[in-house]
Amino acid sequence: MKEVVILGAGYAGLRALHVLQGAKGDFHITLIDKNDYHYEATDLHEVAAGTQPRDRISYPIMDVVKTNKTTFVQKEVATIDRDQQVITFKDQTTSTYDYLIVALGFESESFGIPGVEEHALEMVDVDSAEAIYHHLLKQMQDYKQTKNPDLLKIVVCGAGFTGIELLGSLVENRKTFAKAAGVKPEEIKLYCVEAVTRLLPMFEEKLSDYGISNLVKWGVNFLTGKPIKEIKPGVVIYQTDVESGATEALSAKTIIWTTGVSGSHVMADSAFSARRGRVMVNQTLTDPEHDHVYVVGDVSAVLDPATNRPYPTTAQIALKMGQHAAKNILRQMNGEQPIDFHFESLGSVASIGNTHAFGLVGKMAVKGYPASFVKKAIMDRSLYQTGGVKEVLAKGRFDFYH
Ligand code: NAD
Repeated sequence: MKEVVILGAGYAGLRALHVLQGAKGDFHITLIDKNDYHYEATDLHEVAAGTQPRDRISYPIMDVVKTNKTTFVQKEVATIDRDQQVITFKDQTTSTYDYLIVALGFESESFGIPGVEEHALEMVDVDSAEAIYHHLLKQMQDYKQTKNPDLLKIVVCGAGFTGIELLGSLVENRKTFAKAAGVKPEEIKLYCVEAVTRLLPMFEEKLSDYGISNLVKWGVNFLTGKPIKEIKPGVVIYQTDVESGATEALSAKTIIWTTGVSGSHVMADSAFSARRGRVMVNQTLTDPEHDHVYVVGDVSAVLDPATNRPYPTTAQIALKMGQHAAKNILRQMNGEQPIDFHFESLGSVASIGNTHAFGLVGKMAVKGYPASFVKKAIMDRSLYQTGGVKEVLAKGRFDFYH
């Protein structure tokens, strides 16, 4: 009997599991994750801002495991030896495989900027997102005692999709923070420090401006064209002039780091040839050196023939890759050749709070309340593709505007 091992129970891993569990064949699946729950990474900003509890964006992995076909093992992967086909875990135990799907997801990227790891809050999983919310509440309660204005200041570093969505949710929950601090909502000061001046370049300027101008209207202070050079305790240092290298400092007790992501460190630790934790895979989604090893989701880079650059990492492409890798493994086990991956983006929509969003559906620009509906439909679709109807219902997702 062949052994198929899936590393990671994120979007890509669980989608692959779903396809494999639905297929007939003489094989067994082992699913491995360091947590016993799946979480929707696209919703972390809501947990960080406190607009959703962690339970609403996560569910137990065992909910989707068919025990007659699959064994779930809760362990943390340390390294993968592709020549020996052995996975070593942090606890030094090992597992072997015939076919492997590596779907180990993303980590925060500090770009080696001093002080980021020590003095900024990262938002990479449910624990770190929840820690941000608890940190925020603590700052607000401390303000009541000390009246230090820096306790009311929140800086989001980076205005990519993650930073923008987080700012939207922080605006939405400003009332809660204000109440905890005993101040008016407008006294909670929100900042976003961003290296470039043209924000969200994947959208045409009019559409990006719509999202940004709403956030500005709601009181977010954007400092754009200001690359962050260092984070000191309670201080963001950013460059104001490239030629002279002049910098300025912004003090705040909450500094959240959302300047981009890289793939899991396991890729570099396992000597995959990876750039920022992403392996440039074959068009079949296999590792160029091992045709029984599939690399999918945020640890993978697939060339977009239209731009000659890798597709951006999104939940949408991760789901598609997980599905494709599983189908290719089924083909290989049947003695057939794996087939190439093709991806057509359905578009991308960024939410700004619960009732506003903007983005592209296919090639069509959407914004405002209708866009927020589309966004929620997209989220339900991804929940459905990993967890099925049960999880969509369990999360009350048909009540779109919780
Ligand atoms: P990103 O790389 O898309 O954006 C990071 C931002 O931080 C950029 O604007 C960059 O200019 C800025 N930045 C980088 N270094 C900086 C520095 N030193 N100082 C100041 N600013 C700096 O990262 P992300 O927003 O985390 O998104 C990661 C991926 O996930 C992307 O592909 C994104 O499209 C995807 N994503 C999609 C959604 C969605 O579809 N709704 C939501 C979140 C993330």
